[in-house]
Amino acid sequence: MSVSILNCAAMSPWFPRWHLGTPCLLVETDQGLVLVDTGLGLHDYEHPSWMVRFFCLIFGIAHDPELAAVRQLTRLGYQPEAVQHIILTHLHFDHAGGLPDFPQAQTHIHRREYEAMQHPRTWIELAYDRLDFAHGPHWVFYEQQTAQWLGLDAIRLPFTPEMYLVPLFGHTRGHCGVAIQDGEGWLFQCADALPTNAQFDLTPDWLNRLVIGPHVPRLRAWAAAHPEVRLLAGHMGSSFFADKGFSK
Ligand SMILES: [Zn+2]
Repeated sequence: MSVSILNCAAMSPWFPRWHLGTPCLLVETDQGLVLVDTGLGLHDYEHPSWMVRFFCLIFGIAHDPELAAVRQLTRLGYQPEAVQHIILTHLHFDHAGGLPDFPQAQTHIHRREYEAMQHPRTWIELAYDRLDFAHGPHWVFYEQQTAQWLGLDAIRLPFTPEMYLVPLFGHTRGHCGVAIQDGEGWLFQCADALPTNAQFDLTPDWLNRLVIGPHVPRLRAWAAAHPEVRLLAGHMGSSFFADKGFSK
């Protein structure tokens, strides 16, 4: 069992001028390959919607179809059909854009996030791209918090190694983190509930609350108590991927 971290979308916002990647996790499980978030998909590069074009301009998202998860998997020697399950932190285009590249996969998501995508209410919920879901994904919904993971309310996912969906509502209405047992420790993809690079003091609290929701102070305290957990954010500096041997 192993967990690989792929950068499935590169971006350089105009301000601050950070160079960022979008970590997506490829997990070997007892159910085959599981992808946690997809980044942008091929259709985002080949025929993007107006909304995706707009955000690509604002966030300086690179035109690089080789970063699409499906292309990276192929280069790693996997058939795309080997991905039987996709877990999504939320349905924004930069996390779910690759869904149509894996039409066979069951797509695991919190029910509140699906409902937010169906009926967006806030400005940040406008970043859902209908083209990501036009093929009719096989949805698997979760709702009841039935477990505790290291003191956080969580939902156990049906995979080995142990994996949990951890509700972190705020960035979007149904946004969740995903915890994955990784050897002796844990990886916790907090996605867009954490500032870039999971560095808590990178942006002021009022801006965090506005864009990524209310969880930063709580996660800061929680992380201090759990040094065995590696936290990831939805967007990490490009040097993070370079350190891991990825060129982009
Ligand atoms: Zn987002």
